[in-house]
Amino acid sequence: MASLATVSVASGSSLLTSCCPAAGKQANNTPLNLSFQEGMVPGDSLQEKLDFMENLGVTGLEVGGRGLAGRVDEINNALKGRNVRMSAICAGFDGFILAEDPEVKNAFDTTMREIVAAAGQIGSVGVIMVPAFNGQQPCKPHTRETREFLCAQLHDLGEYAKSCGTTVILEPLNRNEAHYLRQVADAAAICRDADSEGVKCMGDFWHMQEETSDYAAFIAAGTKYLQHVHIASRGRRLTPTEDGEKDNYVDGMRALKEIGYPGFISFECGCEGDRAVVLPKAVELLRAQWEQA
Ligand code: MG
Repeated sequence: MASLATVSVASGSSLLTSCCPAAGKQANNTPLNLSFQEGMVPGDSLQEKLDFMENLGVTGLEVGGRGLAGRVDEINNALKGRNVRMSAICAGFDGFILAEDPEVKNAFDTTMREIVAAAGQIGSVGVIMVPAFNGQQPCKPHTRETREFLCAQLHDLGEYAKSCGTTVILEPLNRNEAHYLRQVADAAAICRDADSEGVKCMGDFWHMQEETSDYAAFIAAGTKYLQHVHIASRGRRLTPTEDGEKDNYVDGMRALKEIGYPGFISFECGCEGDRAVVLPKAVELLRAQWEQA
């Protein structure tokens, strides 16, 4: 009897799914918001680049932080009346937050705050930062005290960013580039312990080869901490589609849809082919995988 009941439930369930797809998978209306880094978009001027993006339905623009204070008017004017808004600002500061040398630390504090202020003026979601790249020496040692120092420093920086209407965004990298911070959940835990709404984190599908699960990484951060996402092809950090079957983002996208991630997935990648041809294909691939996720 038990086995008969099992068969009956199983066949009933598959019948329901086949005649009514929504019954097998809950509908999810989380939109896919795509963003391009300025330097990778075809076009001789910012206006031409924005035209290219609008034609593809790409609604986020990411720019570098260096010299941003001098570009506030240019960027605000360029975005007027457009269906494109600022996503993140990518680094651009001098020094680094975990520097042992007070002058190097001071250079970080000064230039980072200038960029954060400008980021607020152009409505950016936040300024991306890495606590220390492997090559940045001398660096504070990887100890409990250093983590406490980092959280305290980030608290102050986060409160400043919040007062400017933006955030600072911690980016975990892979161990080849930055041993200190490598996983999204670790970055999220630092956000929690920094205890400021102005401190957020992100995931970069390229660096996330460090993760055992893209899905778990994004779920661990959740919308409370996850502020931005970078994407590249997964074999050689080129444009999605250029590494064939390796370019599968469905597992991570499933998490982003489930948490209702409101931010951008922003292209940070090289390109082997003609960007004007490859970028539309990449957008098409990501839309198809988002649908599938
Ligand atoms: Mg990145």
